[in-house]
Amino acid sequence: MARLDWVAVLNEVELNTSRGAFMAWFKNTELVEVEGDEAVVLVINTFAKKQLESKMPKVLLDVVQQQNPDIKSIRYVISKKQVKRAVEAPVATAKQAVAPATKTSLNQKYTFVNFIVGSSNELAMAACQAVVDHPGTKYNPLFLWGGVGLGKTHLMQAVGNQIKTNDPSKKVLYINTEEFVNNYIQALRNNKGGISDLYRSADVLIVDDMQFIAGKEKTQEEFFHTFNALHQSNKQIIISSDTPPKAIPTLTERLRSRFEMGMTIDIQMPDFETRSAIITSKAQDAGLNLGSEVIEYIALSVRTNIRELEGNLNQVMAYCEMRGEQPTLELVKGLLEGKSRSPRRITTKHIIDATCSHFQIDEEEILSPKRDKSISLPRQIAMYLIRSELKLSYPKVARELGRKDHTTAMHSVDKITKSVALDQQLRSDVNTIKEALYA
Ligand code: ADP
Ligand code: MG
Repeated sequence: MARLDWVAVLNEVELNTSRGAFMAWFKNTELVEVEGDEAVVLVINTFAKKQLESKMPKVLLDVVQQQNPDIKSIRYVISKKQVKRAVEAPVATAKQAVAPATKTSLNQKYTFVNFIVGSSNELAMAACQAVVDHPGTKYNPLFLWGGVGLGKTHLMQAVGNQIKTNDPSKKVLYINTEEFVNNYIQALRNNKGGISDLYRSADVLIVDDMQFIAGKEKTQEEFFHTFNALHQSNKQIIISSDTPPKAIPTLTERLRSRFEMGMTIDIQMPDFETRSAIITSKAQDAGLNLGSEVIEYIALSVRTNIRELEGNLNQVMAYCEMRGEQPTLELVKGLLEGKSRSPRRITTKHIIDATCSHFQIDEEEILSPKRDKSISLPRQIAMYLIRSELKLSYPKVARELGRKDHTTAMHSVDKITKSVALDQQLRSDVNTIKEALYA
């Protein structure tokens, strides 16, 4: 096999693309093999494949050719498992024709393909894909939590849809917790006893907005038994909530500990890159090509809620369609003015100030060569934020913090990116600083 150092390729790509694009499209790629003059590259899903083929055909190839000029093309494949499944698909379809189709209340529009991945939701996405690959055995339950409009329902439904696509005989049930509570109360009234039979027959039970179970003691008890029955027979349970299990008020201890048995993951507020990618993708789905200024303006109009972001985009699209006008920046400003607070321009100075004041250190110290952890951690966080919020290149990020070498910035950003995913305390520090920045 001809030589190609994929880690080196990715490092180079990372230097030359925005962070959002790198996280979304390149980071999760793997080199499968080099076949003759073709490099075969594994990507996470068909959407990533399409994106790389159509939107960034040369980005990777250029870098690859710097390393190995013999390579003339790149072929993208989706995960080996998915390739195998595609071959098996006809059998599954035949099965479906015989067995009566199980009814689920999944919404087909929520898929992995139209879910944009960025640093805010990348862990959640990975966990969801693991659940698709190993339903009932890998992360059970999967507990997703995060603020309103950040994609919890979308992701959970995408899991359900994908599991059904892979195996149409699987019974996937999606319910909202309010519905569960109502059904339960109804059943009690009608003296039907528990309603669990329906839910216990599921292979995959998706329960959305678990925070609504707060204060509903009887329903908690009922759900506890349903949960146990499913869990014991290795049926997958996926739960969402706007808070982590320990913050749901009046949740019984035994239910809380059940919720924490598997994997608990939060979805964060999307960064600018991810918001821009979402707008770009949704506009393209609607057949509209937006200029980068327009995309940027809409991406800055809402920072904390993807549903509202979509709302602003839809408003722009509807207006342009009705009037047959092109969405210019002026027009979009006029439309969204007043709806969204005028976007505040964040500068590196804001970020450094906010970071220093959060950690109660002096600006002089953060810019100094000091290496004590109490100074170096805030410095790394400031670099991370400058990179993620302002999209500056690594050499610039380094310079802003008084460093000459861009690899210092790369290491810092990389370290914080990884730690944010794993370390609750750090994640909360970063979020507090972000909130202060945009308040
Ligand atoms: P939640 O359940 O967390 O309140 P939803 O899943 O309902 O949020 O998401 C709100 C809207 O934003 C939905 O229309 C969803 O499709 C969209 N959305 C959220 N996250 C993404 C994403 N990463 N990529 C594309 N669309 C997204
Ligand atoms: Mg929801």
